[in-house]
Amino acid sequence: MNNYLEELNEAQRDAVVNTEGPSLVIAGAGSGKTRVLTYRIAHLLKNGVPPSSILALTFTNKAAREMKERIAKIVGSQTARYLWMGTFHSIFARILRSEAEIIGYPSSFTIYDTQDTKSLLKTIIKSMKLDDKTYKPGLVYNRISAAKNNLITPTAYLQNTQIREADQASRMPRLAEVYKEYARRCKNASAMDFDDLLLQTNLLFKNHEEILAKYQQRFKYILVDEYQDTNFSQYLIVKKLALGHENICVVGDDAQSIYSFRGAKIENILNFRKDYPEFNTYKLEQNYRSTQTIVDAANSLIEKNKRQLPKRVFSENAEGEKIQVIGALTDNEEGYLVANEIIDTRMNHQHRFADFAILYRTNAQSRIFEEALRKRNIPYKIYGGLSFYQRKEIKDLLAYYRLAINVKDDEAFKRVINYPARGIGNTTMGRLETYAVQNNQSIWEIASNPDECQTAGLNAGTQRKVAEFIHMIEGFASQLTSMEAYELALQIASESGMLKEFYKDKTPENLSRYENVQELLNAIQDFSLNAKEEGRPNQLNNFMEEVALLTDQDTDKEEDFDKVTLMTVHSSKGLEFKNVFIVGLEENLFPSGFSGTLTGAELEEERRLFYVALTRAEENAWLSFAKQRYRWGNLEFCNPSRFIGEIDEQFLNLKSGGLQAHLPRRESVPPAKEEATTRRSPMGIRSQQGNEHLGKRLTRMNEANRQNAAAFAGSDPEEIQAGMFVEHQRFGRGKVIAIEGTMPDRKAKVFFPNAGEKHLLLKFAKLKIV
Ligand code: ATP
Ligand code: MG
Repeated sequence: MNNYLEELNEAQRDAVVNTEGPSLVIAGAGSGKTRVLTYRIAHLLKNGVPPSSILALTFTNKAAREMKERIAKIVGSQTARYLWMGTFHSIFARILRSEAEIIGYPSSFTIYDTQDTKSLLKTIIKSMKLDDKTYKPGLVYNRISAAKNNLITPTAYLQNTQIREADQASRMPRLAEVYKEYARRCKNASAMDFDDLLLQTNLLFKNHEEILAKYQQRFKYILVDEYQDTNFSQYLIVKKLALGHENICVVGDDAQSIYSFRGAKIENILNFRKDYPEFNTYKLEQNYRSTQTIVDAANSLIEKNKRQLPKRVFSENAEGEKIQVIGALTDNEEGYLVANEIIDTRMNHQHRFADFAILYRTNAQSRIFEEALRKRNIPYKIYGGLSFYQRKEIKDLLAYYRLAINVKDDEAFKRVINYPARGIGNTTMGRLETYAVQNNQSIWEIASNPDECQTAGLNAGTQRKVAEFIHMIEGFASQLTSMEAYELALQIASESGMLKEFYKDKTPENLSRYENVQELLNAIQDFSLNAKEEGRPNQLNNFMEEVALLTDQDTDKEEDFDKVTLMTVHSSKGLEFKNVFIVGLEENLFPSGFSGTLTGAELEEERRLFYVALTRAEENAWLSFAKQRYRWGNLEFCNPSRFIGEIDEQFLNLKSGGLQAHLPRRESVPPAKEEATTRRSPMGIRSQQGNEHLGKRLTRMNEANRQNAAAFAGSDPEEIQAGMFVEHQRFGRGKVIAIEGTMPDRKAKVFFPNAGEKHLLLKFAKLKIV
């Protein structure tokens, strides 16, 4: 395809063809930033730039894959294959592996995931005899992570009086020691956590100029998507690499910066201007994703944030439907109402399930929706939470693989030394670990040495059992390079005794575990086949590298083809769906925390998060809340989120049925319709009074909804029957062909001369008998 430049508007094309020098694209949601990045790469390739000299950093692996596919369509897959494209973590893990030796790691270092990290921290906190109610592993992890992302090493941490004072204030004065011990243990285990991947890259570039120079020369063009969410560590890596040629293009939207809790810094955008005073800037203002209503509603919300760069976003798409607000009495009812809306909308718009997404603030909210969807037989897929790779049986088997690749991996060692049971108990493990820590070595180094085992206090019988285990792992390790990924994976699953564990007793739980393991093996087989076809290395460690760096969005499977998506708002960044439900819109949930205690900056971040959620929608958006919800085991009464009230009300449809007529009229006037650009400018800030009105309306709406829901459960009041003539608001007159199901799911099959055959849920369709 050669007319790719014609698929861009003028501003986008400008940003694509001016490939030299620093470029900054800060623009609103859906304005084509990712598209610009993609086409810019294609353009570079078309103009003869070798793919291996282009470095593109994306937010998820999935985004990278999709960009690559698009580029392959323009320039051919042979060329696209050699691009350096992926998340910061995956790209720099790759670089670290090839330079590992110089920083004192083997190239086979393990990447500890959050669970490994927390488990190690727990061990350390316990062994230092600290109170884990004060030194909560999650909290400690966040503090260490923040330090790493600001390039503060354990030594620097110890010397930083400001941080030490903060630790004192939060009653964790020994955090510096925990950090130091954690770093030491990771090193002994030849392991890096996610933050280390960035920290170590920075250290590598700082301490080894020749290596930095090599990569500066290699990557002649650098591109970064979602730049607003880079942290200091990432910012610095990019800055160092771009030094010299300065062919760096970053795209982002400050209004979508949602990771400040992980250290992302909006200032990176401002720094860009300082770092590259000669930069080009491109304004993308047209949103191609969403209806005018959604874009304008999102604008009216985000302008409540004080801290933001001025920008304009408008849409020339259809005006579209208003945003529906659904009030439910309880969280269960919220799930029920959302499921109903999905069925109804899917039918009326001929959409697929995959066109729907349910976005929530926290993973825990998914359960209610899962239940509601299951009851209605609506297929769904869920991202994040306890993902496939976090399941116990999967982690166990992966631990065998990890250990075969890096025998020093302590967390993997501890996981499988006695699984399946080999008579090596906690006491033995405790002795080995304590001895290893004292001697600054990994557990493996002790366990594989009979003399050390003896000194550590293991008796002869236990020593024999440990030796057998060591021997088995050595056997696996020795085949890493000679066997293909799948063959070896299968062999380990079987010889480790794991597969046998599952058919020992055939409980449904074991069956499901067995199936999960099969699924993992299938994934490895797929990997093997693809790698072979594409001439990529096809060993178990290559597969494991990919697994270690999966993000929430990356767990798509083929059978997930037509399913409703459930995910947190955080994971939805960069994605788009025809229909989006933003649920749990209540104070203290979204905005999260105890809203009363949020600082101004925190509240603004919550608002940006809501902005991200709303701007995922292409055609329809729903906002839902419940009046009562179970949280932490208690039934809580909730108030609708202030964010609903912050959207200009002209874009909202409060689904309150007959109540609508009694509601106070709004004083605001719809914007003028003459010109697309001015028409879409957001309305002025609404008065406090306006919000109060809305608050009251929302409360009353709850009541109306509750009554509606009660009516759903009863019989069909209108008694529509086959053969009758009916009238529908949109489809006009039609004839009922059949009635199916019982209330509340009773449906009418109706033939409308103007719209064809439709299946309508009676409780929503409001059919009038004519
Ligand atoms: P976000 O801020 O959410 O990451 P974005 O600015 O990266 O959004 P894209 O995802 O690149 O926006 O584009 C949004 C949608 O608009 C995509 O479906 C994209 O294909 C489409 N689009 C962008 N530019 C154009 C164009 N010039 N013509 C037609 N469609 C376009
Ligand atoms: Mg994007």
